[in-house]
Amino acid sequence: MKNKLNILPENPEESTDKPLGRFPKHLHRAMPKGGTLPKTSQILQKWGMNTVCEEAKCPNRFECYSKNTATFLALGKDCTRACSFCDIDFAKAPKPLDPNEPSNIANAAKELGLKHIVITMVARDDLEDQGASQIASIIREIRKEIADSTTEVLTSDFNGNFSFADHILQEKPEVFNHNLETVRRLTPRIRHKATYERTLQLLSYVKEKKCSRFIKSGIMVGLGETKEEVFETLHDLKNIGCDIVTIGHYLQPNRHKVTVKQFISEETFKEYEEYGTKIGIKHMYSGPFVRSSYNADLFLQ
Ligand code: SF4
Repeated sequence: MKNKLNILPENPEESTDKPLGRFPKHLHRAMPKGGTLPKTSQILQKWGMNTVCEEAKCPNRFECYSKNTATFLALGKDCTRACSFCDIDFAKAPKPLDPNEPSNIANAAKELGLKHIVITMVARDDLEDQGASQIASIIREIRKEIADSTTEVLTSDFNGNFSFADHILQEKPEVFNHNLETVRRLTPRIRHKATYERTLQLLSYVKEKKCSRFIKSGIMVGLGETKEEVFETLHDLKNIGCDIVTIGHYLQPNRHKVTVKQFISEETFKEYEEYGTKIGIKHMYSGPFVRSSYNADLFLQ
């Protein structure tokens, strides 16, 4: 059955049930043929891995798996937040952390042959340190197993307790990513508990610590934002010293989640990329299927 999507209201604050219509061509994803897709799935299963690729139904997973790549989802597969865009399951009290998770992730990464390992996490507001020390152990295990690897973390906001991020920063991940997800005005509707300001504050805190080579963030578009709001967001990220910004098209993962409010053209993605570059963001990556972890090693070479 086809997705039912909503049309962009004149006033983006209003919602409507009118269908947005057929997806334009540039939002159709071709399925890559061949590659290592089955082998990647087998390795992930063998080590009992959760991936954001599967849990968030990422549209790139066929491509990434075919290239031996996946993004690990750490701290379990249930999240203590229920953001209106995200397909990851919500639980008030998720299962306790798995003590074998760090070594399993490291082993899976090694068997996949990964050199740049991206670890994202569910928000674990139920844990005393929000799960930060487990992420630090994962980085240590990866370094033990794959000596010449680089790591990238995509974290929660630690519920505002930024000092928990220090556990992770001590391990000096090459890339520290925390996503803004959307523009300021839409944040309360799109994110659960997280705030626009707190995200900027965390990124700024991490930047000042100088432990990671790159500070990264990203947003989704197609949620009813205006171009001016995207430009303002890029300025906010530039002002806190963000090095890498990703912009991708939001796609509704299931019918319970917020609907796509407008289709963003390829030209507009290009415009955002050029604008970010013009104002001095070092690396802009903008396109319909760009995700935080898509081609994550692109700027490391
Ligand atoms: S873009 Fe990231 S989350 Fe999506 S399939 Fe690729 S590695 Fe997984």
